[in-house]
Amino acid sequence: GQELEVSARVAPLGSRLVLLLVEDRTEARRVDAVRRDFVANVSHELKTPVGALSLLAEAVLDASDDPEAVRRFSGRMQVESARLTNLVQELIDLSRVQNDHPLQDIAPVPVDELVAEAVDRCRQVAQNKQITLAVGGDPGLVIPGDHNQLVMALGNLVENAVNYSPERTRVDIDVRVTGRKAVIAVSDQGIGIPHRDLDRIFERFYRVDPARSRATGGTGLGLSIVKHIVAGHGGEVTVRSLEGVGTTFTLVLPLLPADERGHHALDAAS
Ligand code: ADP
Repeated sequence: GQELEVSARVAPLGSRLVLLLVEDRTEARRVDAVRRDFVANVSHELKTPVGALSLLAEAVLDASDDPEAVRRFSGRMQVESARLTNLVQELIDLSRVQNDHPLQDIAPVPVDELVAEAVDRCRQVAQNKQITLAVGGDPGLVIPGDHNQLVMALGNLVENAVNYSPERTRVDIDVRVTGRKAVIAVSDQGIGIPHRDLDRIFERFYRVDPARSRATGGTGLGLSIVKHIVAGHGGEVTVRSLEGVGTTFTLVLPLLPADERGHHALDAAS
C-alpha cells in the first residue's frame, strides 16, 4: 500500500512518435520531508531556550530592587544559555559526522584509551548520583578510526546510561573480541526504554520522555550522532532494553588487523 509519486514528461520525437519519461519522485520527496522536519525541529528547539532567556531578562529588569530575585533569575539564565550552547554544539557535531564520509582522520585507536576518556567525561555526574562505573573485558584492543568521534560515540552512551539511571546503581562497560570485531557493551540498571520506542530512539530529536530528557540537559541528538559515527566506521550499534530493569547499548566495530597493528606499532616506535 505504499504510494508512489511519479513525474511524467512527454517529448515528441516526430509526427507519430513520442517519448514518455517517467521518474520516480518518491525518494526525493521523502528526503525533502526529512529535511523540512529537521529544520522545523531545530527551530523549535532553539526557540524554547531563547524564549526563556528573553522572559528571564525581562524579569531581571523588573526585579532590579530585589537582589535575591535577580540572583535567582540570573541563575536560570545561566542554565538556559548552557542548554543553548549544548544544543548548538551537538548540531555542529551532528553535521560534522554526517558529512565526514569517508573519514578524514583515521588512525589506530586503543580501545582502553577510548573507554577511559568516555568514562572520564561522565565521572562527575556519576559520582553525584553515586553510580558505579565499572570497566571490564579484554584489554589491548585497537580499532582503526577517528579518535575524537569514537570518544564522542562511546561517551554519549555512557552519559545516557548515567542520566537515565537512578542513584546508587551500576553502569558496566564491557569490551570483548568476537571474530575480527570489537564489541563494546554499555549496560545500565536504569529506567529502560519502552519496546515501542526502541526503533525510533536513533532518530534526530526523538525522545521517549521529552520533559525528562530536557531536565537532564538532553537534546535528543546524542543517539543519532552515535549512529552516524558508528556507520562511518563500518560498525553498528544495537540496543536491548527492559522497562524498569535496564538498557544495554552495544557497539560492534571492526578491529585493526594484527599485521597492520604490528606495522603501526613499529611506526610509532621509530
Ligand atoms: P537525549 O539527549 O534526550 O538523551 P539521545 O538521542 O541520546 O537524546 O537519546 C534519545 C532518547 O532515548 C532519550 O531521550 C531517552 O528517552 C532514550 N534513552 C537513551 N539512552 C537511554 C538509556 N540508557 N536508558 C533509558 N533511556 C535512554
